[in-house]
This record gives sequence, structure tokens and C-alpha cells, in this order.
Amino acid sequence: MELKLKPIELPGVEMKRPIVIAGPCSAETDEQVMNTARELAENGIKIFRAGIWKPRTRPGAFEGVGSAGLPWLQRVKQETGMYIAVEVATAQHVYEAIKFGVDIVWIGARTTANPFAVQEIADALRGSDMPVLVKNPVNPDLELWIGAFERLNRAGICRLGAIHRGFSVYDKSRFRNHPQWQIPIELRRRIPQLPIFTDPSHITGNSNLIQEVSQDAMDLNFDGLIIESHECPARAWSDASQQVTPAHLKIILNSLILRDHAIGDKSRVTLDELRAQIDKLDTQILESLAKRMNISKEIAKFKYDHNITVLQTRRYDEILKSRREKAEQFKLNPEFVIKVYEDIHEESVNTQTAVMKQLAEEQNKE
Ligand code: PEP
Ligand code: MN
Repeated sequence: MELKLKPIELPGVEMKRPIVIAGPCSAETDEQVMNTARELAENGIKIFRAGIWKPRTRPGAFEGVGSAGLPWLQRVKQETGMYIAVEVATAQHVYEAIKFGVDIVWIGARTTANPFAVQEIADALRGSDMPVLVKNPVNPDLELWIGAFERLNRAGICRLGAIHRGFSVYDKSRFRNHPQWQIPIELRRRIPQLPIFTDPSHITGNSNLIQEVSQDAMDLNFDGLIIESHECPARAWSDASQQVTPAHLKIILNSLILRDHAIGDKSRVTLDELRAQIDKLDTQILESLAKRMNISKEIAKFKYDHNITVLQTRRYDEILKSRREKAEQFKLNPEFVIKVYEDIHEESVNTQTAVMKQLAEEQNKE
């Protein structure tokens, strides 16, 4: 279905890239909320976030202060003039948020993955003009993400935005949630008018990487950033490692380079966006190569322990044959792919030989 979208537009907020939403992962106390909010407002932040109902992976962790936090957010609104945003996961959360004058709600990643929950939220929002931001589902499923926008849109909610917060992976890399940039890029291609916010806090899980991922998002021409900021990250009751102080946030935002793009024409992909996509893919290729070489080292140890030679010609022939077939399947030039694999194989053999030599030397010493 074609989405009927309206711009989010908040009086007094310039909808200029990057549109920034900032605030703590969780509202903890009245003071923590107010102190953080005041500092952020002084630094020019216009939209304040705070989780009050927290979906936690394991029970027993801090699950949010609940509705008790809503008056604190009302106070933020009254005293700083910032707009306030909270996460909702049930119809009851929606009713409470509306009652307390919340300006924006977002649907969390675990909730987006559940169509029943999204439908319940959409039904509860029916008849309101609430802007709703939808985080990507925890799993890399673009259709499920788009499905959530469709459910909200069918309930008459037109002021929609997407939050890209990365995707769960079993083997942790340097990111808490893998960005898989190709997914929000494809979302932009499919629904060009939908604003996309990047959430570098939940992508990285690490306050030292927020700047880098924020810049990546700007290079891809995404619209906004939602960043967790806490008056004292080390003492935060949730997501301590990824939160930044308001002062640190200011430094990050000031450092961002905003490259030109075709203003008002989001469907046009610019040269910078294409280059940023290439950069992302190259990083993935290099990460894969590094993983491959590490496995080669494991293999070398195995061969050493079992007295097997490094070079296994039959295996090499199989690799070349199957990679040639794959190349054809992916419409790549097979000659080019074979050349690349000859180099990779050579490097792998050299690495294995070096590992085996080292193991032999160590054994001789013993
Ligand atoms: C959050 O924004 O604090 C949150 C719980 O995020 P996510 O749904 O992306 O895990
Ligand atoms: Mn969080």
C-alpha cells in the first residue's frame, strides 16, 4: 500500500538536518530528568526523549519508573519548552502518554517485531494526530518494519518517521546492534518521503563510537539523530556505556560535517550517498576478509596438530570452481573473481605456513 504521509512539523523546531532528539535512556528521578533536560535545552536541543516503560532483555533489570515519570516530563516541557518523546509498547501506554501531553511517541525495536502489539498501539492512537517514530525490528526484516508504518497509517496516523537502531546479531562485533545500512537505504528507496532518524546509541552501545555513526548517518543523507544523553552516564540505571553527557553531545553535534545534497528531492541519490554506501560495503568486505584469515589460522593449528600439509590441492580446486559458479550467479565477471580468489588463497597459504612454522619453533623450544 502507498503510505499517506504528512511532515512531522513541530512549531519552533527547524526541520533541518540533523533533527536531534536527545535525553536519557530512562527517566530515573525528577532531578536526573530536570538536570539533563536543562543542560540539553541550553545546548539548543528541542526534543527530549526519556524511556519510562523499559523493555529489558532479562527480568530483574530496571524496568522504568512507569507513569510516575510522566509528570517529570510535563515539567520538562513547561520549564524548558522542549517537546517530549517517550516509548510506548501497549495501548495503556498510549492513553497515559496522550493524557500527559506527550508530543511524540516511538515504538521500540522489540515491539515493532510483534504485529499484534503494533496493531494495538495503532488502534489506541486512532483519532489523534500524534507523530509516531517506529524503530526497526530487532531482526533485519524490512517488510516487518514497513508493515508497522502501514498499520499506523491505516489507523489514520500520518506523521510518521523511522528510527534506525541497528539489528541484533549473535556474535557481537564492535557494535551492539549491527547497522546493516543497506536496510535503511532500501527503506528510503521504497518510501522516499519518510524521515529517517539514526540511533547511534543503540547501534554502538558505546559512547566513543557515537560520533562516527552519526557522521555515517549524515553522509547517507538521513534526517535526524536520536542520542541518549544523561547528566552522569556512569551512574545511569540503564545503558550506561552508551550515554553521553549533554556537553559531550554538543561536541559530537558540532563536529558533524553536513555534505550537500539535492534539497527537497529525497528520491535523488547523490554522489556522496553513493560513495558512503561504497565505504560501508568496503568495511564489510574487509571485516569478512579479517574473519576469513582468522579462520585460516585456526585451520593451520588443526593441520599442525594432525600432521597435514598446508596446501590441499583438491580443496583449492573446489574453492575456485564454486566461487566461479557463485560469480556467475551474482552476475560478476568470473575472471575477476578468480583473480581475487587466487590472491586470497595465496595470502591464506602464507598465513598458514607462518603459523605452522611458529608452532614448530615453539615445540622445538620445549
Ligand atoms: C531505547 O530507546 O531506550 C530502547 C529501548 O531502544 P530499542 O527499542 O532500540 O532497543
Ligand atoms: Mn536505551
